[in-house]
Amino acid sequence: MQALSLESTLQDLFLYDFTIESSTLSHTVYKVFADNHLLPGVIITQQKLLWKMISRREFLERMSRPYGLELFSRRPISNLCMLSKNEPLVFSSDTRIVIAAKQCLWRSPELVYEPVVVELKPREYRLLDVYQLLVAQSDIHELANLLIQELYYKLETANHKLQKLATVDSLTNLANRRQFDEYLYQQWQQMRRQIDWLSLILIDVDYFKFYNDNYGHIAGDFCLQEVAKAIKSNVQRATDLVARYGGEEFAVILPTTSADGAIYLAEQIMNSVRNLKIVHKKSAVSPYVTISLGVASVIPNLEMKPSDLIALADAALYKAKSSGRDRYILHAELE
Ligand code: GH3
Ligand code: MG
Ligand code: MG
Repeated sequence: MQALSLESTLQDLFLYDFTIESSTLSHTVYKVFADNHLLPGVIITQQKLLWKMISRREFLERMSRPYGLELFSRRPISNLCMLSKNEPLVFSSDTRIVIAAKQCLWRSPELVYEPVVVELKPREYRLLDVYQLLVAQSDIHELANLLIQELYYKLETANHKLQKLATVDSLTNLANRRQFDEYLYQQWQQMRRQIDWLSLILIDVDYFKFYNDNYGHIAGDFCLQEVAKAIKSNVQRATDLVARYGGEEFAVILPTTSADGAIYLAEQIMNSVRNLKIVHKKSAVSPYVTISLGVASVIPNLEMKPSDLIALADAALYKAKSSGRDRYILHAELE
C-alpha cells in the first residue's frame, strides 16, 4: 500500500474482490468464506447491478441458526438475503478516506463494523473492511498532527526571522532605525517617570564618501561593520542600545546616564575607532578612519519630546564636524 496522505482515497486501500450473482448457491459462498478468513463479506448482484451486501458475520450467523444450513445451503443466496434488512453503504473509489471513515462511524452501532462497498466503475464493485479503513484514518490523523507540528515550527522560524528583519540592520547586526525610534520613545517615558538622565550619542564617519569613492562600496561596507563592532564593544549595560541610524551614522541610547557618563563613553568609542587604524588616504583629518560624535543629555519632561533630544545631539554632531571632525561635542557646550 502506498504512503497515505490527507488526500488519499479508498482506491489507495486494500479492497476485496468477491462479487456473485444472487442465483449463486449459499453453499458456494460458505466455501469461499471458509477458504478466505479475512474476507469481510460478499457483494450480491442482480444482472450485474449491486443488490445486497452480506457481511461474513451476518452470513455465518444466519447459517448457524437452527436449520440454517438445511434452509439456505442448497438454495440461491438470494433466499438468505431476503431476510437481511441492511442496505449496503456504497462509496465511489475516489472518496477520500477521512470522509468515508466519518460516514461509516455515523451508522447505527450494530452496523458500524459492516464492510462497505466501493464502486470502482459502473458494475464493478469491491469490499472494504471497516477496520482497515479506521486504521488508515488513524494513520492519516497522525500524519496530520505531524504536518501541523511541522507547519507550526516553520511559522515560528519565519516569525522569528521577520521579527529580526524588522528590528535588526542586516549589514551591521545592530538595531535598525525602527528599533532605535521605539526604544528611544520607550526610554523617554521611563526616564520621565523616574526623573532621570537620558543621553544620546550620534556618530558619523568622517569623509566616508571619499572612503567609498576611493576604496569601493564593498570596502565601505566592511569599514561600517568594523566601526559598528568598535562602537558596540564599548557599550556594556543591558539597557544601552547601539543602532545604525542611517547610512554611515550610528546612535547610542544611554538610559540613566548623565552627560558625564555619556562623554566618557563617547571618548572611548572615538578611541576604539581610531585604534582600528583603517587606512583612509582621502581623509583630511587623519591617515585612518575617524568619527565625529554629538552628545546630548536631558531629564525628559512633558514640555519636550524624544525628537528634541535627537535635534540636540544632531546640533552637537554638526558642531563636531564644522570644528574639525574626529572629536565629540556635548550639546551643553554649544551655548
Ligand atoms: P562627513 O565627514 O561630513 O560626514 O562627510 P561624509 O563623506 O562622511 O558624508 P556624506 O553624507 O557626504 O557621505 C556619506 C557617504 O556614506 C555617502 C554614501 O556613499 C556612504 N554610505 C552610506 N551608506 C552606506 C552603506 O551602507 N555602505 C557603504 N559602503 N557606503 C554607504
Ligand atoms: Mg552622514
Ligand atoms: Mg560622514
